[in-house]
Amino acid sequence: MTAQSRFEKALLIGLDSAVPGRWRRYAEAGLLPVGQRLLAEGAFAAECLPTFPTLTTTNWATIATGARPGTHGITDFNPHRPGDVIGASLQGFDARDVTAEFVWEAAVRAGLDSIVVNWPGSWPPRQAPVSASPDAPAPGSAAAEGEGPAGAAAPGRLTLVGGAGIELNEWRIGLPGMERRVALAAEQRFSTRAEPGAMGVTLPLAGETFDLRLTFRDSYDEVRSDVTLACRVVARGDGPAVRFSLLGAAAPLAELAGGEWSERLELPLSVNGGTVHGLFRLKLQDLDPAAGLFRLYVTDICRRTWLEQPAGVLGDTARFSGLPTPGVGWDSLGLGCIDIDTFVELTGMATAWLADVCATLLRARPWRLFCVHFHAVDSFYHLCSAKLDERTTPDPAERRRYEAAECAVYRQMDEAVGRLLAAADTPADTPADTPALVALVSDHGAKPAGARVPLRDILAGAGLLATGDDGGSDLAGGDPVGIAWERTLAAPQGSCYVRVNLAGREPQGVVPAIGFEDVRMRAMRAMLDYRDPATGLCPFSLVVPKEEAAVFGLHGDGVGDIVYAVREQFADEHGQMLPEDTRAVGDWGMRSLCLFSGAGIRPGSVIEDPVTLMDVAPTVCDALGVWAPLQADGRSVLESIVDRPGLTESVCGATPPADRG
Ligand SMILES: [Zn+2]
Repeated sequence: MTAQSRFEKALLIGLDSAVPGRWRRYAEAGLLPVGQRLLAEGAFAAECLPTFPTLTTTNWATIATGARPGTHGITDFNPHRPGDVIGASLQGFDARDVTAEFVWEAAVRAGLDSIVVNWPGSWPPRQAPVSASPDAPAPGSAAAEGEGPAGAAAPGRLTLVGGAGIELNEWRIGLPGMERRVALAAEQRFSTRAEPGAMGVTLPLAGETFDLRLTFRDSYDEVRSDVTLACRVVARGDGPAVRFSLLGAAAPLAELAGGEWSERLELPLSVNGGTVHGLFRLKLQDLDPAAGLFRLYVTDICRRTWLEQPAGVLGDTARFSGLPTPGVGWDSLGLGCIDIDTFVELTGMATAWLADVCATLLRARPWRLFCVHFHAVDSFYHLCSAKLDERTTPDPAERRRYEAAECAVYRQMDEAVGRLLAAADTPADTPADTPALVALVSDHGAKPAGARVPLRDILAGAGLLATGDDGGSDLAGGDPVGIAWERTLAAPQGSCYVRVNLAGREPQGVVPAIGFEDVRMRAMRAMLDYRDPATGLCPFSLVVPKEEAAVFGLHGDGVGDIVYAVREQFADEHGQMLPEDTRAVGDWGMRSLCLFSGAGIRPGSVIEDPVTLMDVAPTVCDALGVWAPLQADGRSVLESIVDRPGLTESVCGATPPADRG
């Protein structure tokens, strides 16, 4: 293999928030067998930097476009758009907001069929719709089996599944804050205890039934069905169980003892004048009739198929494993109402289903480029990273328990990647022995959340921000609630910006153009002069005017007038810390996982040169022999990772590989 040779295919596999040091430690210990193999066969980037802000939407857009945030436009989780009230913007999950070409669009433009699954911000399709027409044969059909790769003259076909949020069955497009909708219903809980968010239940006398009415909260479409579970405590073996039926139906749905999950259940539901089959599971968390204790967890109610182009592309999903749960128990774990084991069981279900989606498409559809994103590691870190850190969790036994859960989530990812690679070896459209490039990446690292910076108070203390009588709350996320705009000169915007309330630009602007620089300087001085009372430290690691932020890729309408970053002691799990920021304890830091593997890649090598997430799409395109996405700012690193005769050990930083046949 030489640099001139191209790969037939490429798989771009994203693991949201996978921390390279932690992933690598588990892989090298043999706990992630697929990761261990990829490390042994591939080139691992020692220092892969995400872009700033170190956020999900921003960096999946960067990976997909090869572009800086200023170029692709997703400059925040909720990117500011002209005319938005400062700090009140919609989330950055809409593909139509991305002002750069995606890598799959570049591939399709060059004639390569591409598949994209659950990539945040990839929905809706921006290409001309590809319908299930004669040139897009049904999965598994003879036509699909017999097809060769598309020629360069005609565009390739794009298959797109999900991408409107961070999980299948989730929708965040056009929604403010962190709001989301789910395909059919969010998770729900029933309890005889007083628990936040749970519906109250009283256990009746033995043998009597009690009814639990399901709700369809946070549903994208209105569900018009009325569904009630009729429940009865029964004796089973040594102990009690609960028999669940649909009210009015003879056959029971499930019979569960305490701690047991039901099988996957299916409900016909009335949605948009038609019937949609909702999938869900029950977990009887606790049952003790003598103590009057009953706690039931009902998963999200999910659609089998939802956002797909072409429609029906997944075919029959009945054999899929797991459950496409969008919430993975996030809310309930955050409230302390499910345990960590239940959460890991839920991430396992979501990951298994997503792996089946991928394996089905890889086998049934022609493809040269395949892109997918898995989210479970990020969900785990947001909820549990403090449990892994000795500063916040001094008890070593508790830390070990959560480390086992962390490893279990990475193992779910590893198994899914293994399933993808197995399915990719038997594609419908290319011979089985053609080489594929595998790129395994994360969008950012993680670390336990720190104390929040009281940015609103800092600006108020400098006389730049005024609140109304109710005061509002000081949210680092820039929530504008309670701000008296007529007396406010500057306000927090999103994750890492301050915006001057400029007349003629902001909807409620009061600062005349002549006063702009003065207000901005006062705000920057207030931020730099501030000291955290507990530590005496200035929480900001960077405070610069917008114009100076262009050097690290932030420019355009979405960027605030001041750009700041926060030291790790004061930052969220990720987002507000600079990409280079690391902390030795526990391998935490913002750096991204980045590994390339495939025939011809120098096995077991480490890329010591700086790599950024902007380089991933150009590298994938280089491997496939197509032009990089039109606005890509990064560069291909392929030349430096392929075996090349004459290249010495000292140049490549790894021992020359044995002949790999
Ligand atoms: Zn992320």
